[in-house]
Amino acid sequence: MSEEKPCDVECAICFSIYNNIFRAPKVLDCGHTFCLECLARMNMKSYVAEAIQCPMCRQLTLVPTDGLPRLSNDPTVLSCLPEAMQRICSIGFSRAKGRLFVKKGPNSQRKKRKRRVKPLFVSTVSESLDVGQPAQSDSHRQQDEGCWRVSNNKWCSIVTIIIILMTVGLLISSILAFTIL
Ligand SMILES: [Zn+2]
Ligand SMILES: [Zn+2]
Repeated sequence: MSEEKPCDVECAICFSIYNNIFRAPKVLDCGHTFCLECLARMNMKSYVAEAIQCPMCRQLTLVPTDGLPRLSNDPTVLSCLPEAMQRICSIGFSRAKGRLFVKKGPNSQRKKRKRRVKPLFVSTVSESLDVGQPAQSDSHRQQDEGCWRVSNNKWCSIVTIIIILMTVGLLISSILAFTIL
């Protein structure tokens, strides 16, 4: 009874070991699996909240209407985790707040009382996790960036002109020196 099956329990993005909380192994439509935290971070960075693009094959997976954590868990990865971690906690995701959080519904409390499996890592993980700010597409930010870019460009062009002038001057002087010699 020493069957060792190759278990890939690391998220390919963050190289963290999957767990039953924020790093739950979530499988996309294309069959690639990543941890919930990475998918949430990707969703925060994306302008499209309704779909997640697989970083491996670029296939789009629609985000379930009742939230990102409702994506199905990868059963293969789950079977590789310690038994205590095979029950995925009920996680909520608020894109507006950029936060993953552990849901504490009456349902989960009842379950906990019935079967007291000590959840691993729960004590070391906080009950909510910031995953970044939503991607903004408002004009205000673009304006700010635009202003900065203009002023930056001005300095860039001045420096470029000085460098060009110096190079030309050096060239001319070296040509003169050659012709005189
Ligand atoms: Zn990850
Ligand atoms: Zn994929």
